[in-house]
Amino acid sequence: MDCIFCKIINGDIPSSKAYEDEWCYAFHDINPQTPVHILVIPKTHIASADGIDAENSVYVAKIFEAIPKIAAAAGLERGYRIISNCGEDACQTVKHLHFHIMGGRRLPENMG
Ligand code: 5GP
Ligand code: ZN
Repeated sequence: MDCIFCKIINGDIPSSKAYEDEWCYAFHDINPQTPVHILVIPKTHIASADGIDAENSVYVAKIFEAIPKIAAAAGLERGYRIISNCGEDACQTVKHLHFHIMGGRRLPENMG
């Protein structure tokens, strides 16, 4: 499958690792929009939040168990935002489910 995030998981495309366990991989966004901008992805191909189902939702649960550890290691004790763009109107560009962890400065109240 021609998926850049699957290639990142496999090591075929280099990335700057922030965290890894058997369920997920986290790495620094190549084009950071905040001082800390990390992407967390499941180690299985799920196209977007729309593709989450009873079979694969364990990956999502495990990602959300990992996020506090990733945030703490990144120094985000003042808080952070978790974003997952899903589909065209949300401007999802990579069709492999990912959660943006963004912080390191005060973020705008408006999200849309
Ligand atoms: P989306 O717009 O789909 O929610 O977010 C995709 C994100 O992936 C973007 O923030 C973009 O900068 C990031 N990205 C795309 N390709 C790569 C890559 O090859 N390496 C890394 N580290 N980030 C990438
Ligand atoms: Zn993929």
